[in-house]
This record gives sequence, structure tokens and C-alpha cells, in this order.
Amino acid sequence: MFLRNTTVLQKRLELIVAPPRGWQAAMRALIIGGGIGGLAAALALQRVGVHAALFEKAAQITEVGAGLSLWSNAMIALRRLGLETAAGKAGSVIEQTRSFLSTGEPLGSVDFAALGEKVGAPSICLHRATLQRLLLDTALNHDPASVQPGRECTGFEADASGPAATKRAKVR
Ligand SMILES: Cc1cc2nc3c(=O)[nH]c(=O)nc-3n(C[C@H](O)[C@H](O)[C@H](O)COP(=O)(O)OP(=O)(O)OC[C@H]3O[C@@H](n4cnc5c(N)ncnc54)[C@H](O)[C@@H]3O)c2cc1C
Repeated sequence: MFLRNTTVLQKRLELIVAPPRGWQAAMRALIIGGGIGGLAAALALQRVGVHAALFEKAAQITEVGAGLSLWSNAMIALRRLGLETAAGKAGSVIEQTRSFLSTGEPLGSVDFAALGEKVGAPSICLHRATLQRLLLDTALNHDPASVQPGRECTGFEADASGPAATKRAKVR
């Protein structure tokens, strides 16, 4: 057996599964980039009480893009961010997709309705700008200073001299 000291292992697992109370308040997260990924990360951190500051190099977070299809896994992620219902209302549920060759010959189809039923969340189609606005507004409602446009990250430095290794982003 590799696990000789199960008590120590159990204690470590307990720390991972149930970290000490208030650990979130001690953490500060810097997020670089205000796309869908960065905004979703900021919201997820805010929801567990971690102070998140997001820096976006563009002068403004402009609502650009085209239609996005969000599969069930994305909807489950939005559920955890408290945005599944709002996203669902802003988009259209995908029941089925069918693909054809340029000759008109059918290539295949996906039954999204059955998939959604199986995993407990639908797939939807919505405009990227709508999703971005939803994420941005929710992050700003929680903390108006959490998103800072016009700030570019130019690098980062690691400092391992203290009790824990820290990384500092250089932002101008
Ligand atoms: C044509 C097309 C169709 C797609 N369709 C779908 C779809 O149907 N469903 C789906 O789920 N996905 C789809 N995708 C993929 C999806 O759009 C991307 O995966 C997603 O938008 C990426 O988000 P992101 O936040 O990671 O990156 P980005 O949206 O690229 O955001 C990165 C941000 O970081 C900023 N940035 C970069 N460097 C710095 C810096 N040094 N300092 C500060 N800010 C910085 C940029 O200005 C930018 O705003 C599609 C992509 C394309 C191109």
C-alpha cells in the first residue's frame, strides 16, 4: 500500500474539501481579459467571496460577436453563476441540428432535446454580445470596481520569498 498514513491524508483532504472559514477574504484574484472566459471567472470568484479584479486592454468592453451555441455543459456552468434563467430567456432553445452537404445530401443530425433531458439542461443559441452584457452587468452589480477597461497586462513577476508564493501582474 502506498497510503501508509491515512490520518494525515484524511486531514489534507478535509482542508481541500472544507478550507478554513474566511479563506476567500484573504485571497485576491487578478484576471487578465474581459472576454466571456474572464468575465465568467470574475463572477465565479465573486460568488465564493474572493475579491476579483479584471483588467481588459481595450478601452471599452464592447459588445461584439455573432451567435453562440451554448451546449448543456455551458448552461450548467451558467446555472452555477445564477444566470441560467436570464440566458435562457435571452436566447432560443436548440431542439435539433441537421447538417447537409453542398449537394443537399443529409450529413447528420444531433437531437439536442434528448441530450438536454438526459443531462438536465437545454442547449441554447444566443448572441455573444447578450451573454457578455449579462456577465459584465452581474459582475459590476456585485462590485462596480471589479472590471477595469483600458488596462493592459504587460507581464507578471513571481515572489516566492514570503510564506506563500505570490504572483503580481504588471498592469499599465
Ligand atoms: C467564428 C466563431 C464562432 C464560435 N462559436 C462558438 C459557439 O457557438 N459556442 C461556443 O461556446 N464558443 C464559440 N466560439 C468560441 C468562443 O467565442 C471563444 O472560445 C470565447 O469567446 C473565448 O473567450 P475568452 O474570454 O477566452 O477570450 P476572448 O474573447 O478572446 O477575450 C480575451 C480578452 O482578453 C483581452 N486581452 C488580451 N491580452 C490582454 C492583456 N495583455 N491585458 C489585458 N487584456 C488583454 C482581449 O482584449 C480580449 O478582450 C466561437 C469562436 C469563433 C471565432
